Order: sequence, then C-alpha cells, then structure tokens
Amino acid sequence: MNFIPAMRPALGDNRPAWWFVFRDDRLLVRFEDGTLVRPYLTDLSKLKSALIRKQYLGSLNGTDCYTAELTAEAPVPEDAVFKGLRQLFGAVDEELLWIAGRANQFVHWAQTHQFCGRCGRPTRDKTDERAKICVKCGLINYPRVSPAIIVAVVRKDKILLARSTRFRSSFYSVLAGFVEPGETLEECVGREVFEEVGIRVKNVRYFGNQPWPFPNSLMVAFTAEYAGGEISADESEIVTAGWFSAEELPRVPGKFTIARQLIDWFVRTQNRQ
Ligand SMILES: [Zn+2]
Repeated sequence: MNFIPAMRPALGDNRPAWWFVFRDDRLLVRFEDGTLVRPYLTDLSKLKSALIRKQYLGSLNGTDCYTAELTAEAPVPEDAVFKGLRQLFGAVDEELLWIAGRANQFVHWAQTHQFCGRCGRPTRDKTDERAKICVKCGLINYPRVSPAIIVAVVRKDKILLARSTRFRSSFYSVLAGFVEPGETLEECVGREVFEEVGIRVKNVRYFGNQPWPFPNSLMVAFTAEYAGGEISADESEIVTAGWFSAEELPRVPGKFTIARQLIDWFVRTQNRQ
C-alpha cells in the first residue's frame, strides 16, 4: 500500500480526494449500480458546510485523503449510506478500509480532545505536528494508541481458544488484553493468559502486529507454549475456553484479523508435522 501520512496536502486542497466521512463511528459509503463500492469519493460540495473537525490524513497512490464528521442534522446524500467498519470488511478495497480505520481513530481523537483534560479550556490544533494544545495551560495531547497483546498458546497439538464475553457472536478466538503502564509486552502476555484462564506460558515469541481501530488499539501478536496449570476461565471476560486441535477448530474470526492469522499459523505448523 502506497499511503503517505502527512499534515497537509502538498498541492492545495481543491483536488479530487478520498473523503472518509463519519457519523457515530460509521463511515459514509456509496452505492454504484446497487452495489456497495467504496468510501465516498471527491465531490462533497453539497455537504461541505455540514462537515466538522476536518483533518488531512495523507495521500494514497497520489490521491489526497481527508476525514471529517457529518453533523447530526445534515441529511445523508441520496446515493450514500453510513456503515460500521466491521460490516465493510470484504465489501470494499482492503487498503481503503485500513485508511478508514486510521481516519476513524483521528475523528474519535478530535472529538474527545476538544477540551483540556487538565484545566477544561478549549484546545486547538498544533500547526507543526498532529496534536491538540490547550489555549490556556499549554497541555499537549497526541492521538491516542492503546497497545494490546494477542497470543496463540499452544500445548502439543492443540491451541487455546476462548469465547469472550465481548463478542456478541459465538466465535472462539485467541486471548487478548490491554497492556498496563510499566509492563513489557511479554509480561502482559503472561499476566493476561493467567488472569483470563489460569494457564502459565513460556517461550513467548513475537509474531506480528495490526492496528485495530475499535477504537484505538495496536494489537501486538505473540505465540507462546503451555507451561502449566489447568483452564479456569475468568467469567467476567471469558464465557468458555478450551484446547482445540487443527482438525476440530470451532468458528473463528474473519481473515482480516491478526487473531485469524495466528490461528492459521497454528494450523500450518500442524500440517507440517
Ligand atoms: Zn489546559
């Protein structure tokens, strides 16, 4: 993907552009011949006065990308509709979707940092970097990213999967949790797995990462080996957990998630044996 983040457009702001327009975390998309195609492109002249907290994101293959919110009162254009980002996976270009995820995080940040967290006065955009500065006390806030770990725990020929209380649907996934201040990523893996299911792990190894815009996580993925303990699920977070072989996997998350990449990695390692 050739996306170049930037603070402002290199060639002025009157050129055709991708517009990632949100309302309540939902993206404005357009139908073409009855088919959902892609985020709303270019001519939003009729909407312009109803767009607030406009931000430039950068350029994708030379085309400028902007994000903004549509006010609650403004009518939705006839050929467009607001959709949740999760509903769009598989329905639009993946690269545009990841920029939409990035856009959603900036929109969310702009919306929740209009006032200073220290003195309560209004903030304004800094001109030299993407940040909000308090007009009174000078406190600076950057877009927030919350690191989280996600881990595939393997015991011989089985993987640990759990159904989270967070998921409305009935799929199983690998364990995940937010990093706490002062903690290393590896310590977080050990703590989360022990807290959620009472299992000890060893040989924690980095696997990959994925920005996860719901609303502002960076998922850092690991693999780990079982080191001891019996499954005892924390009922506030886990509905049920168990060990699954590659041949008897339950319903798991979609292809676009790093959780699924971890599960697919496990299946590949089993097929090799
Ligand atoms: Zn302040």
